[in-house]
This record gives sequence, C-alpha cells and structure tokens, in this order.
Amino acid sequence: MDQIVSLCKRRGFIFQSSEIYGGMQGAYDYGPLGVELKNNLKRLWWKHNVYERDDMEGIDAAILMNRFVWRYSQHEETFADMLVDCKTCKGRFRADKLGESECLRHPTKYPGECEGELTEPRPFNMMFKTQVGPVPDPESFAYLRPETAQGMFVNFKNVLDSTNRKIPFGIAQIGKSFRNEITPRNFIFRLRELEQMEIEFFVRPEDAQATHEAWVKDHLDWWAEEVGLRREHLDLLEVLPEDRAHYSVRTVDIMYKYPIGWEELEGIANRTDFDLAMHSRDQDKLDLTPNTRAQAQALPNAHSTERLTYFDQPNNKHIIPYVVEPAAGVDRGCLAVLCEAYDEETLESGETRIVLRLKPTLAPIKVAVLPLKKNADEIVALAKSIKKTLQATGEMRTVYDDSAGIGKLYRRQDEVGTPFCVTVDFQSLEDQTVTVRDRDTMQQVRIAVPDLHAFIRERI
Ligand code: ATP
Repeated sequence: MDQIVSLCKRRGFIFQSSEIYGGMQGAYDYGPLGVELKNNLKRLWWKHNVYERDDMEGIDAAILMNRFVWRYSQHEETFADMLVDCKTCKGRFRADKLGESECLRHPTKYPGECEGELTEPRPFNMMFKTQVGPVPDPESFAYLRPETAQGMFVNFKNVLDSTNRKIPFGIAQIGKSFRNEITPRNFIFRLRELEQMEIEFFVRPEDAQATHEAWVKDHLDWWAEEVGLRREHLDLLEVLPEDRAHYSVRTVDIMYKYPIGWEELEGIANRTDFDLAMHSRDQDKLDLTPNTRAQAQALPNAHSTERLTYFDQPNNKHIIPYVVEPAAGVDRGCLAVLCEAYDEETLESGETRIVLRLKPTLAPIKVAVLPLKKNADEIVALAKSIKKTLQATGEMRTVYDDSAGIGKLYRRQDEVGTPFCVTVDFQSLEDQTVTVRDRDTMQQVRIAVPDLHAFIRERI
C-alpha cells in the first residue's frame, strides 16, 4: 500500500486534500492522472450498466435533499456506528473495529489493551449536517447525502412517468456521498467524502431473489472481465443478518483482496419494498409485504405527496416494486485497479521497472508520442503533428513529451500505465513510419503513420 500511495503522489494520481495546511482527514484529491483513471472507470460502469442494457435509465440527483428523505429512509434513526471513547487517551474508536485501531498513546496496542478504560459503546450518526439559508436557526439544516440511493427512490415516479418504463427496470446514478466515518483510514479506502456508483433495480416482488442473484453474477464478472481484477482477488461474502443494513433482507458483498486484506468493494442488497413504501403516503392502503409493513407502520408517512406505486397491467393492480441495489464505491474501485495493476519487474539488465498493467480502457493516457531527439526540428514537428492527429479523434488521450532521454520517457509512461509509446526517429522522416512500443512486452514494431490510428484503436 505504501508503494501505491507514494506512486499516486509522485505521478499525480491522488493527493491528500489540503496538504499544505496539514491535510483533511478522510478527503483526497484526484490529480491530473487520477481524474482520468476515475473518469474512465465511471465511463466503463455507465456503458455496461446503462448503455448496453435496455432496462436502465440514468439520473444525477442533488446532494442536498429535503430532511424528510432521511427521516423516512430511517437514516436519522439508524445510520450510526457504535463508538467507544478511551477515558485515558481520549481517542474515539469504532466499537466493531477495535482490532484494526491503535491506542493513541501506545500505537502497538489496540484500544483497551493498554491501561486506558473504554466507555460503553454508544451510537454515533454518520450524516454530516450543513446550514441552509442565512439564518442559523436549529431547524434550517440539511444533511449531505450519505448514499446516492435515495435520489433514485424519491424520483421513482418522475422517471417512470417521463420514460413510460415497465418493470423490471432500473435507475443508475454516480455521485458523491458523505459519511462522517469515525476513523477514516487506508488511503482512499475509507473516506468521509466518497463517490458511489449505484443502481436501484425495480422488480415484481416474486422476481427479487432471482434478480438479486443475476446482479451479483453480472457485477462480479464485470469487475473481473471489464475492469481486469483477477478472479483470485475477488470473492463473494454472504452478509450475516446482524450485519445487514436495516432495509435489507439479503446482502452479498463483492470483496477484493486489497494489500490491507479482503475488504468490501461493492454491496448488492435486496431492499424489498422498504424504501418506496416508506416514502409513500397512505401506507395503510398499500399492499405491503409483512417484513415492511411492521416498519412502515411504525413510521406513518405524514409528509410525502405521492404513493410510489406501479400499476401492474397484467395483474390489473397497483403494486410496490421490490428493489435490488448494486452499490459500488468509485474510490474503492480505483484503489483496487491500482493495486491490481502495480508491478515491479526485474529486467535482464538487473534494473527494476515499475509498471502499471492497467487495462488500456482504464489507462489515463493511451498514447505518448516521443521524439528520439528533441533538438531535431523535423522529428519534433512530425511527433507533434502525430499527437495532434491522434488527439483529434477524441478516442484516446495522447500526450507529447520530450523532457528527457527516450529510456527515461519510456519508464515514466510505464509507471503510469500508458499502453503505447510512439517514437519518431530519423527513419520516420524518410519513410513515414514510427515505432510503437508495447508497455507490457516492451516489444517495438514499425508502423506506417497513416495506419497508426487504426493500429492503436484496435488495441485500446
Ligand atoms: P463499510 O462496511 O466498509 O463501511 P458499507 O457496507 O457501509 O461499507 P454501503 O453502504 O454498502 O457500504 O456502500 C456501498 C459502497 O460504497 C461500498 O461497497 C463501498 O465501495 C463504498 N463506500 C461506503 N463507505 C465508504 C467510505 N467511507 N469510503 C469509501 N467508499 C465507501
């Protein structure tokens, strides 16, 4: 992990937020290469989950939402971690993660293992509050959303009515969420400001179980085949009832083998009709499932203006669909991709080269065009014109670099995962060919300049 953190800073993938002021815990900034990687991962996800399916719509909901959303979703009441305080060192720790925490005075010991006495666990709500409007009145506040999911539930009717969808169909969203984690840690693994890629997929209640299983399989395959995480680094975890969120009757986590151990990359939950029912008026008139009815009746909704129902034509009745939710973290995805791709290779010369073996689709830079000599005007001009032509296709981020000798330029591109380096040399001026070097094999082939675009496009 230290090597990855160091590479990320050195090469401009990820920086500590507000570093020059000592940082901001649980927040990180994506740099020039990080933003490309992150956008590529999100684009790949959107392509697979929205464009390549016939049963999906996308939205981008606001981060600030009416407070009632969080009352009826029950986040106000239940979105809490259990917290313990150490009476001696004043440290605060998650009660369920004491084994992963360090005593503030004796970092080699766990909290409570030292002389310090711990308080009884108490719940700590993880939603951030912010003031809304100019008057700091205790009632005029909003929460920063802790999940993107609620934006999909409260827009269920809007999406349904504006698109004429029939179930099964889903809504997808990528966006920021905020959680006041007690102990943000492990680089971008546990953040206070994070980004999520979530789907709420609406189905007939009787189809929920099979749909749940289908999404688990689909997303496990996606992380492996399209993102390129090795199968042996991925696993499924059946989440135990006591560890599930309040709305879930079944959750399966997709786990990734990070350098810090096996951890959750994505959670796929069967949220039943809980959310749509909770956000509906007239709950007593809805035919809710027993599981939900108890909870919904405990909190009758006096504020919603809608019944979030669906008219099921074949059965001629209004139903509340069940929801299957695949919820992944963008940051945890980027971290997994970086961990998976990082490699240190010993060359025949005895030198080591650091190479990020990223899938070309995810690589921040697809092509680097390098002149063999930077003081040979004609070589430089040809290299720059190749860069411009490739960039103009809009298909591949291309850079030009002449700031070092060719060997060093190759190493720099290897380290950030650029799949192809195009080198312009003296021969290029005579026969309009260039060399294309492959990042993984370091093999070079000569390609005619007019064929270059097609050659690279095919491989990225
Ligand atoms: P954890 O158990 O690790 O706290 P969670 O089960 O609370 O996670 P979910 O509510 O299921 O997480 O959120 C869906 C996804 O969002 C997670 O699988 C993870 O990838 C991401 N995520 C959740 N919390 C964080 C965080 N604090 N930092 C980064 N990513 C997160």
